[in-house]
Amino acid sequence: MSEPHIYLDYNATAPARPEVIETVARVMARVGNASSVHGPGRAARQDVEAARAAVAALVGAEPRNVIFTSGGTESDNLALKGTGGRRLMVAATEHGAVLAPALLHDAQAVILPVDGEGVIDLAALEQALAASDRPALVAVMLANNETGVIQPVARIAAIAHAHGALVHCDAVQSAGKIPVDIEALGVDLMSLSAHKLGGPQGIGALVLGHDLEIHAEIVGGGQEMGRRSGTENVAGIAGFGRAAALALAGLDGYRALATLRDGMERRLRGIAPQARVFGAGAERLPNTSCISMPGVRSDVQVMTFDLAGIAISAGSACSSGKVSASHVLEAMGIPHDEAMTGVRVSLGWGSTAAEIDRFVEVWEELYRRSGRQADAA
Ligand code: PLP
Repeated sequence: MSEPHIYLDYNATAPARPEVIETVARVMARVGNASSVHGPGRAARQDVEAARAAVAALVGAEPRNVIFTSGGTESDNLALKGTGGRRLMVAATEHGAVLAPALLHDAQAVILPVDGEGVIDLAALEQALAASDRPALVAVMLANNETGVIQPVARIAAIAHAHGALVHCDAVQSAGKIPVDIEALGVDLMSLSAHKLGGPQGIGALVLGHDLEIHAEIVGGGQEMGRRSGTENVAGIAGFGRAAALALAGLDGYRALATLRDGMERRLRGIAPQARVFGAGAERLPNTSCISMPGVRSDVQVMTFDLAGIAISAGSACSSGKVSASHVLEAMGIPHDEAMTGVRVSLGWGSTAAEIDRFVEVWEELYRRSGRQADAA
């Protein structure tokens, strides 16, 4: 298989920043368990605490409220299961890391509908909260991994809190791409993942908006103030901290990607006016485009682009490999056949205008070829 040299799949995982690779290698080369009291242990602890401060700064939290985990999936699970027997209410477009534990953990979990742009239905939320027989935990992502659609999280939090609910926000796709402030959003818990912002895979955090009791899922040695046991992944944590600091400093660059992304969408729609940009009517991340190619299935598109050396994704990366329509597009009411033609293109700090030109060229070739084949059939 050819090695992709145009990488337009930042939402699946972003390339590790060179500074992060340097940090991870440097920290790994040293011995030290962050729980040990001797010199090497204290040095490891220092690395962990410096990273905790950097991750906290990325989302405006207190460092003591950052709990390091193995990534976004574990953070989402901990948030949903660690807040103690609440009625779970989650948006229909959430990532599987939220949907699966909600459905597994609460037989009466409420799946909140979204509108045609993928934005949560606030009236349905109000209704569900008013009808609930016990305090709820509302889980809603800040930005969707497939469409980039941004939810009105601060409004959702205000509504939920008025009903005594807690609010969890999966900010895995937002942190490092748009400004994220846990206090301004008013959420109680927030998930982050390092590999979406230039850090290592397999490290993330659950961040608390205030001092909130959380029941540990993983118990043992009592690390992370008893909230997540297991020897800290010092090198991964240090890499996460470095990536968080770089992401915070690079937010303006991310904002500028919208120009590149919007230009690309305009050109694709110029080639095929029926091509639809999903969620385009809502506020979106600046780097993400989920777009249909009329008549061409998303898996065929992904393979064709791969052969041309361009990496994109059909729906969410976690469900790639299976040919079914994205649950996100289905929840938005997109007809099945059209949803099957949607792909996700996600840009990042390494993306260039020349790469987008090449992407558009391959897109046009494939679209015209499929049209000719349809005519000949
Ligand atoms: N939440 C969202 C919105 C995601 O996009 C992802 C990853 O694709 C996750 C959670 C899971 O994060 P991780 O890969 O760190 O487990």
